[in-house]
Amino acid sequence: MTMLHYRDCPGCGVRLLMSEEQPDSRYNASPECWQLYGELTAYTVTRGDVAFMHQHAVDTYGAQHAGEQARPITVAFALIGLYLACEQDYSGKKVQHMHMLLARRTKTWPPFTPPALRGSLTVLDVLRAPPGEQRDHMLRQWRQSVWDAWSQEHARVRALLESVMRD
Ligand SMILES: [Zn+2]
Repeated sequence: MTMLHYRDCPGCGVRLLMSEEQPDSRYNASPECWQLYGELTAYTVTRGDVAFMHQHAVDTYGAQHAGEQARPITVAFALIGLYLACEQDYSGKKVQHMHMLLARRTKTWPPFTPPALRGSLTVLDVLRAPPGEQRDHMLRQWRQSVWDAWSQEHARVRALLESVMRD
């Protein structure tokens, strides 16, 4: 009988059956979680929806897996994306456009301190929901739970966005 081994993702904490893959130090994610993220983005990219849900998947995963290796711009963009989506009701398309405007305005982004807990939902919960409206709904829940987990940095995210757009 073979023993089954599980591995916890250092970013989101999801426990998945361990594969042969070795962790990649560039990502604060287990290889198994990264694999699921690949499945989710393959799904969101090929949907071709006008609202562009894909952007929310990228920002949510990025914020949930922000680690020491992450570039400040990656984390800042993920958090700004979550702020605009969760609190300003931006579509993925509008968030993408805002990221483009922001990238033109400055090249220096401050670091943010990740919370110890990164929300109760993971990419696995999203993939378990059937494709279509139910999966979109779960993706929004996941997005909200990650944004809520970052509450200690909400004020700084808002202030950063305002100051970059004002300068
Ligand atoms: Zn993970």
